[in-house]
Amino acid sequence: MGISMTHEERANTLLRQGYHCSQAMFGAYAEELGLDLKTAMKISTCFGMGMRQGDMCGCVTASMLILGMAFGFYDPQDQEQEIFGNKKTDEFIRKFKEKMDGALQCREILGLDISNPEELARFRQEGMKFRICPRALHSSVEILDHMMGEYQDLLADVGGELSELPIEDELQSAFRRVNRFNRFRRDVRSLIHETEEKIDFIQFDIRKFKVINDIYGEKFGDEILDFITEKVGKICNEKQYFVNLRSDVFMIVTERKSEEETLALIERLKIELREFKHVTLQYTFGVYTVEDKSMELRQMEDRAAMARKAAKENIITNVAFYQEQFKELLYNRRFIEDNMQAAITERQFQMYLQPKYSIGSGHIVGAEALVRWTHPKRGMIFPNEFIPIIEENGFIRHVDYYIWGEACRFVKRCETSGIGSCPISVNVSRHHLLGDEFIRVLEDLIKETGINKKNLELEITETVNGQQISEMSNRLKEEGFTLLMDDFGSGYSSLNILLETPFDVIKIDKKFMDNMMVSDKGRLILAQVVSMADKLGLGLLAEGVETKEQVELLQQIGCDIVQGYYYARPMPAEEFYELLEKDREKA
Ligand code: C2E
Ligand code: CA
Ligand code: CA
Repeated sequence: MGISMTHEERANTLLRQGYHCSQAMFGAYAEELGLDLKTAMKISTCFGMGMRQGDMCGCVTASMLILGMAFGFYDPQDQEQEIFGNKKTDEFIRKFKEKMDGALQCREILGLDISNPEELARFRQEGMKFRICPRALHSSVEILDHMMGEYQDLLADVGGELSELPIEDELQSAFRRVNRFNRFRRDVRSLIHETEEKIDFIQFDIRKFKVINDIYGEKFGDEILDFITEKVGKICNEKQYFVNLRSDVFMIVTERKSEEETLALIERLKIELREFKHVTLQYTFGVYTVEDKSMELRQMEDRAAMARKAAKENIITNVAFYQEQFKELLYNRRFIEDNMQAAITERQFQMYLQPKYSIGSGHIVGAEALVRWTHPKRGMIFPNEFIPIIEENGFIRHVDYYIWGEACRFVKRCETSGIGSCPISVNVSRHHLLGDEFIRVLEDLIKETGINKKNLELEITETVNGQQISEMSNRLKEEGFTLLMDDFGSGYSSLNILLETPFDVIKIDKKFMDNMMVSDKGRLILAQVVSMADKLGLGLLAEGVETKEQVELLQQIGCDIVQGYYYARPMPAEEFYELLEKDREKA
């Protein structure tokens, strides 16, 4: 049944479909009460009892049930709730009688008693169900909708103190949410059909809301959401509709003359919602502009959501407009999520190794382990396509453990063959740093394979959370691990991190080097970084070295260790082993 129908339309449709008035009435509200229609029909079947005795009108009985679900109480000790519930029942009965000229019972309304077979026959013959019953339905719906609307306004007024209301319970809040959402959708549908202007769906959420909840507590988090709800309510005009979709995700639907108008609205939101009780709040916005008005509302919402997610991945801007290719991104994400488990069990992940060279000696001094995924149908999938996704859902743990195991076995092979020591560095996803499970895994792997700890190096990327990384790296250092700072110069706080963390080697990021290479000033900075690392007693490695010029410059400024396509691409472990054998023969 369409959500856009009014309660009365729904009830009448059900009546025409052959249901009793009590079923029609209850069924009209089923969805909002979290019931599927079938269950609602079953529950309200026997409510016709009163009616069959010629007593209470079925619409009234069903309304009692609806009121119970909306305002009822479950705690027999809670007097206040009981009084509130009873007041609502009394109110309904009083208003119903007013509207129905004092009638409450079926036989008063119909003017006959359908518990009497002859009168029931007359009731059917004269089609009274479709002449008279709709009036009782109409009255009931009108009263209920009014009472519920009033209740919502009451809740809205109390605003921040919502949770202190004695009448509040889970069902009621669920009911309110669904009801509010339905109303929102109804409004949006009519806006879409009425306006000549373009329509934008703006979806937004709070950056790092989970972290805020962790730090300040969930109650504070809820206060923030109430604050946003209230502010947005004031910002939106009567033609702009908004809803709190779930948790910290909000959506505004607005007509607009130009894209600038939408951007201006977003600017205003950013400013007005910027601070709550001295906590600075940042947001991510996704915008979808309606093109095809006949499209399902759900699809429009999904597209705004896709744009919001895309904005999340963008560090330069926090607003993104929907683009067709997002659909592909979403498809890719699903593919990865659906296939990652099988990739582990069916051993589709492989360890590739990329050699690290000393410019001076021309010899291989180690390698970095990089994962590759060979899917039986899709072929080779590169880390940039799946690592961000499995980092988000945590599956990266399994992949990393697997690669670390492969790296240890490779190190062991070198140690026991004629090659000897060849340190392999593995990537440690930031995901691991939340706990210390990964340290145990590393220790176990090292013990199991019996390798020299020095030959398994850890690459860690600087994260937003400097505190976390410095604590963890100190731990690792105490355990005797060699630490490489990955992607140095690509983040925000590289220098700070150097101060607080005991890294052994810094890996200069490819982009950082590329940027520095193009000007004299840049080259000077690069030279300073190299000399600083030297003075601090840190090892240095340049990543992504592709050209002869880069090699020459690095040599000039004193950076000896390099990794990059100029020397070699990442390759299967077997191939690297052969390369290593040849390299060691040359020595
Ligand atoms: P990363 O750790 O910075 O790895 C270096 C990336 O640069 C690798 O990309 C490598 O193939 C690429 N590269 C090396 N030399 C050059 C060059 O001269 N030019 C250019 N343009 N690129 C070069 P890859 O293998 O695609 O990996 C991408 C990223 O995925 C890695 O960046 C790392 O962050 C992540 N990653 C790869 N394997 C793993 C893994 O096993 N575990 C975890 N947690 N992350 C991994
Ligand atoms: Ca790396
Ligand atoms: Ca890197």
